[in-house]
Amino acid sequence: MQASDALRTFGIDASVEGVAVGRGFGPGTGPALAVRSPIDGQTLATVQSAAPTDVRRVVAAASRAFQDWRLVPAPRRGEFVRRIGQKLRERKADLAAIVSWEAGKITQEALGEVQEMIDIADFAVGLSRQLHGLTIASERPGHRMMEQWHPLGPVGVITAFNFPVAVWAWNAMLALACGDSVIWKPSEKTPLTAVACQRIVADVMADMPEVPDAISCLLVGDATNVGRPLAASVDVSLISATGSTRMGKEVATTVAGRLGRSLLELGGNNGLILTPSADLNLAIRAIVFAAVGTAGQRCTTLRRLIVHRSIKEEVIGRLLAVYSRLKIGNPLDEGVLVGPLIDEAAYDAMQQALADCRDARGRVYGGERITAGVPAGGVYVRPAIVEINPHAPVITRETFAPILHVMPYETMDEAIEWHNAVPQGLSSAIFTSDIREAERFMGPAGSDCGIANVNIGTSGAEIGGAFGGEKETGGGRESGSDAWKAYMRRTTNTINYSTGLPLAQGISFEV
Ligand code: NAD
Repeated sequence: MQASDALRTFGIDASVEGVAVGRGFGPGTGPALAVRSPIDGQTLATVQSAAPTDVRRVVAAASRAFQDWRLVPAPRRGEFVRRIGQKLRERKADLAAIVSWEAGKITQEALGEVQEMIDIADFAVGLSRQLHGLTIASERPGHRMMEQWHPLGPVGVITAFNFPVAVWAWNAMLALACGDSVIWKPSEKTPLTAVACQRIVADVMADMPEVPDAISCLLVGDATNVGRPLAASVDVSLISATGSTRMGKEVATTVAGRLGRSLLELGGNNGLILTPSADLNLAIRAIVFAAVGTAGQRCTTLRRLIVHRSIKEEVIGRLLAVYSRLKIGNPLDEGVLVGPLIDEAAYDAMQQALADCRDARGRVYGGERITAGVPAGGVYVRPAIVEINPHAPVITRETFAPILHVMPYETMDEAIEWHNAVPQGLSSAIFTSDIREAERFMGPAGSDCGIANVNIGTSGAEIGGAFGGEKETGGGRESGSDAWKAYMRRTTNTINYSTGLPLAQGISFEV
């Protein structure tokens, strides 16, 4: 599908209004933002983006809408989310096409991203009948204690370019079911997918007039005009921010400065330990998907392969053979597995990292720019494999490009130590047929990441589990399990149904 055709199905033409309050779209008062496709560099549209005054206006509207939305029974809120999930099912192919055009994902991965939105919508619908607290035994006679979860307030959702729609859905579907209003600031590199999602929400609102418009708002703009003012807004109860560690540190500082709540999903530098007992056929497939999927631009991309010395040569040989067959090019073409990098800056960062690898006496395979057989105007590279020593400084940073660093280990102690010796802590994996190694890796002295897998790769998480990581990844958890609790406030209630007033801890206070 051509970009303009896909965009037109959402009513998006060359000039786009970058601020939305529910069904109401309007131009922002900030600068015009040209949106380019990483596939071929064409300008997809120009968005009239938001300025700080728009942020103030939208936050005020979302705060008012929250006052009403929090009183709507949770299962009814779930019905709203259910209908969004239904619309997403109907619009899956169209939305996926925009994800491809705007973020450069191959069709399969773009469809998978929209499916993830549908999955989390389903999850949130079920959740809307399960936002339950505890009943707690009281130490006082004739008393009962309980815990309730109440809606929190407006939630600011800041998202990155590489999951332009799924990350919003992880946050928004839960937050809406939990009774919060949502203000979305998408990446300035991928605002059109956000406009398309907001149109889907607006369509659902048209059929549910009782839903307040401003529970779902959109502010297209950059960090200066939207991201920073949103993070600083005292009326925004939770800032859920996904992106680089650099961004997360700034947002965390701003939000902590006003004693707000933040949920951070930041950079990863994910490792996989490949042991001699591993099923290598499985491992090679998993490694390739995790290392080159989305052209190495996933937060869970495999960046470090820690392989036992005895199988290193065989593994590198097999990986190079698969890499040589990888179809790289237009992500909309059938059979292509590796699409473009997001922009020239990503290419420069990749080349800098490879130069740093060579300086550290790393042996680099691939990594060069490809210009033949790919659309002109996009940035296409051959994914790189680098044999490198485990102490090279370059491997401690996340380079958002397809570079797989390979290092041989001798003992499991050493493998785990190297695995954990990076500042990030998002996803990790071990391939082994030895249950002791698997359990050790998942145990308290094993992987220090938020995600630790056995015999599957580091990327491609399901929505049912809590997603997020430790250390510089930010510590937040989104999506499944009990991640919903971040979007609600907890109250503890003690109810006295006796005729006395006994005090806790047996305190006597006679008046
Ligand atoms: P980025 O940090 O450049 O931008 C992310 C978002 O933050 C954008 O919307 C941007 O405008 C905004 N932003 C930037 N600085 C800000 C500031 N000071 N205040 C408020 N907002 C600000 O990241 P990117 O290049 O779009 O995405 C790639 C990064 O995102 C990688 O580091 C990747 O690992 C990370 N990521 C993490 C997860 C996760 O779940 N852990 C998921 C996807 C991407």
